[in-house]
Amino acid sequence: MAIKLIATDLDGTLMSPDHITVTEKTKNALLKAHNAGIKTVIATGRTLSVINSVLKQVPFIDYIIYSNGASVFDRRKGNNIYTSPIPADAVRKIVDIFERYPVYYELYAGGCAHSQPDKAGYFKNKDLPQDFLDFYMKNIKNHESISRFATTNDIEKINLFYFDGQYYDEIKEQLFSISEIDCTSPVAGDIEMTSAGVNKGKALQEMCKELNFTREEVMAFGDADNDIEMLQFAGYGIAMKNASDECKQAAKYETLSNAEDGIAHAVEKFIFNPLKPKLIISACLLGENCKYNGGNNYCREAALLSEWFNLIPVCPECFGGLSVPRMPNEIINGRVLSKDGADNTQAYEDGAEKTLYIANENNCCYAVLKERSPSCGFGRIYDGTFSGVLTDGNGITADLLDRNGIRIFGESETAKLLDEFDFNI
Ligand code: SF4
Repeated sequence: MAIKLIATDLDGTLMSPDHITVTEKTKNALLKAHNAGIKTVIATGRTLSVINSVLKQVPFIDYIIYSNGASVFDRRKGNNIYTSPIPADAVRKIVDIFERYPVYYELYAGGCAHSQPDKAGYFKNKDLPQDFLDFYMKNIKNHESISRFATTNDIEKINLFYFDGQYYDEIKEQLFSISEIDCTSPVAGDIEMTSAGVNKGKALQEMCKELNFTREEVMAFGDADNDIEMLQFAGYGIAMKNASDECKQAAKYETLSNAEDGIAHAVEKFIFNPLKPKLIISACLLGENCKYNGGNNYCREAALLSEWFNLIPVCPECFGGLSVPRMPNEIINGRVLSKDGADNTQAYEDGAEKTLYIANENNCCYAVLKERSPSCGFGRIYDGTFSGVLTDGNGITADLLDRNGIRIFGESETAKLLDEFDFNI
């Protein structure tokens, strides 16, 4: 399935380790994708106002998921297409907690970060580069009373920054008891709060609904815990080499680190690789409605093989001239009979010959075929009693392909197929 949207986190993913620069190589890979019609999305925990310097480097970006998914900004239309602020009651509870401790916190509202100048002394920088920090601090709007600001504005996200370890567990426990919010900690010592259920993955899902894209058509890159839902949602969830262990577990794939242009590496490998081998695949596994009952056997794992292979969909029963829908067929004593007793063996053999011809024309050495079918099943098929019982044997097409040296895998064996190729990215 073709990729239609690429979403990337910023810090630790799109940005170089300096948190400020996008390398030429990474920028060019995303621009190439954009020029090929793929929507490009930044998904960040930052707020809108502090990513202008990033957008100057990647001006072609189409959408911005910001404040950890609380809002999605459409750059072409110039407005938010989705927003989900923290309930006012929860904001009040959070601010009440913070006001009892010597901590620095920010409220994200209207695409900007807001704070109170006399709290800046509580900020403890652990490891951010000073250039980035100076730039970041310049973009904060200060208020005489941040707690008053909190009561009069829609708050997208709240950040508690690098506070003294002495209070960490105490504050964390109180925050985690507020049911209306979700808390994440993308960097140790930092707690970020959004409305419950808000995350980059949810925002990406809302975008896909708006754009009519399926999750299989989405590629997402991330490195931190606040990227986990996004990587789980995307068909192509890719963790950076420098990602947290949890993030790597959530992703389907891993690429090089941000210091090694991991995004560019994966985009070239997955999207612009002209050397993908070709693979015969049962069309019904890709969602084509060619099954006997007019439906399909869509299989996500099989569809995702498109990132590694150029898929060549086949439906041998349709090739053999059988209609959709049609009576179910099973193999009995070497003949293919429909449930009402009609002998369709010739149609099945014709479909098998045509499939073999297509495989040979395309130099295919591998096929992923629908398990148990009288055409595509391999190893185990229905036993001819139309009762769901299986027996040893091959479908007519699978058998012909096998006799001609083509390696056959069922849809439950895609991992085994990938193991036979060197597909490490
Ligand atoms: Fe699917 Fe194969 Fe049956 Fe066609 S013949 S519907 S591809 S199992």
